[in-house]
Amino acid sequence: MAQGELVFAPLGGIGEIGMNLSIYGVGNGLRRQWLIVDCGVSFASEEHLPGVDLIMPDIRYLIEERKNILGLVLTHGHEDHMGALIDLWPKLNVPLYATPFTAALFEAKRLGEPGAPKIPVNVVPLGGRLTLGPFTIDFINVSHSIPESNALAIRTPAGTVIHTGDWKIDPTPLLGGVTDAPRLTALGDEGVLALIGDSTNAVRDGRSPSEADVAKTIAELIRTAPARVAVTTFASHVGRVRAVADAARAAGREVVLIGRAMERVAQVARETGYLDGVPDFRSAQTYGYLPPDKVLALCTGSQGEPRAALARIAEDEHPDVTLARGDRVIFSSRAIPGNEKAIGRVINGLVAQGVEVITDRTHLVHVSGHPRRAELLDMIGWVRPRILIPAHGEALHLAEHASLARRAGVPEVLVCRNGDLVRLAPGKAEIIDEIPSGRLYKDGALLVDAETRTIAARRRLSFSGIVTVALALSEKGALLAAPEVELMGIPETDAAGLSMEEIARDAVEDAFGSLPKARRCDQDAVAEAVRRAVRGAIAERWNKKPICHVHVLVV
Ligand SMILES: [Zn+2]
Ligand SMILES: [Zn+2]
Repeated sequence: MAQGELVFAPLGGIGEIGMNLSIYGVGNGLRRQWLIVDCGVSFASEEHLPGVDLIMPDIRYLIEERKNILGLVLTHGHEDHMGALIDLWPKLNVPLYATPFTAALFEAKRLGEPGAPKIPVNVVPLGGRLTLGPFTIDFINVSHSIPESNALAIRTPAGTVIHTGDWKIDPTPLLGGVTDAPRLTALGDEGVLALIGDSTNAVRDGRSPSEADVAKTIAELIRTAPARVAVTTFASHVGRVRAVADAARAAGREVVLIGRAMERVAQVARETGYLDGVPDFRSAQTYGYLPPDKVLALCTGSQGEPRAALARIAEDEHPDVTLARGDRVIFSSRAIPGNEKAIGRVINGLVAQGVEVITDRTHLVHVSGHPRRAELLDMIGWVRPRILIPAHGEALHLAEHASLARRAGVPEVLVCRNGDLVRLAPGKAEIIDEIPSGRLYKDGALLVDAETRTIAARRRLSFSGIVTVALALSEKGALLAAPEVELMGIPETDAAGLSMEEIARDAVEDAFGSLPKARRCDQDAVAEAVRRAVRGAIAERWNKKPICHVHVLVV
């Protein structure tokens, strides 16, 4: 009996950090029914994109296929899996599914964004099951750096796929259950067609340390701190927040929350029971009233974000929190690639105030939430897939994950790119088509296509500035007034001290004067000659060519 094909396509997350969005399809080339997994962003700080905050997957293919999409399932609440929903969901308007903490975190985030549309989320219980047309989806608990990370077992008539989402193995996680090896093994016994797996740490040997070890180090650093302590971590890492709170209590310190994201996640974690037993946190205003050895500030800003709490404290500009010589700051985090400079600025600001700064370079104050090589091998051993497709990583991570899987004996290993449509069954796994994919930029309130020239033009402007020239001509081609020349973002004088504005003005007049009389009433010819002359004259002095706009007005 023809049961149709099972296909998989990533629209983001392959060959890049973040922006995870995958689709699974059941049917044939004429009509498929789709399931979407995750809808994340990546942060533009990783690239030089002036004025752009976020990068999102281009979903024009999904918009076309909208009536065949059965639902969108979130594996967990990290921004690289959920961050594009507020902008993209209204274009799809498909049923959305998530476990309780993820759903509550999404709702809190949505309420925090003025003008965000109402987006209903169907809550799936932990360890629950969901049936959408030909897809039966089991949520399987995995350890990660946020509560409620789920691997998905996606059963279809053509076979079962395990989509790992973000995971690691931690025998002693501080929150939630351990990665559910028995359930994954049982699925392996039933037979798994394909494993689509997290590759983030595929270049790292061995196993990740446990959150419990991190908690121990943090507790010791807090216990021995001579004066004030501030800790910064990812707000959504509730297990870590709990570890800090427990350590503070043991050391007789009150925890003050600093930063809106920290307050928001703490609120969600309280509502969903993940901070049960932890004494209430204190507001930022109480910080100044508590003795130095009785307070701990838990701050946002571990990535050096300039508007976040820690950056403002480092600049001595925070309204409630100050630090001084002898105080201790713990970065319970790692630098997300691209943020190193910003973090360095914050650390230097603190050190300049005499504050002691502790990072994961010297102490076990952070571990990643992703599996290292021995953990990847465990997953392969549990699931025993016929096909493995590395996901969630840059080219190097995917390649390392692939070669590890081949050596572990996985029969078919396939590395694909965003937009590749992979047939998983029937037959050998292969790329059978390419679907439209790409990136969108969140530019202020608008979503723009990454292919448009806007951002490239902005980058050029930031590199070499702009000259604007306005010329008023009579109908016969006579100059009616001195040309207006304005420079922006260009040095005022050249190496000899001559005014660049004068140089540009001379170039305009020379170019106009050397045009044959007959061509002086041709607006386009005038504009082009002036543009070239101005760029050439400035480039000769500066070795850089600015953008030049010429307006020719005939009166
Ligand atoms: Zn994650
Ligand atoms: Zn992720």
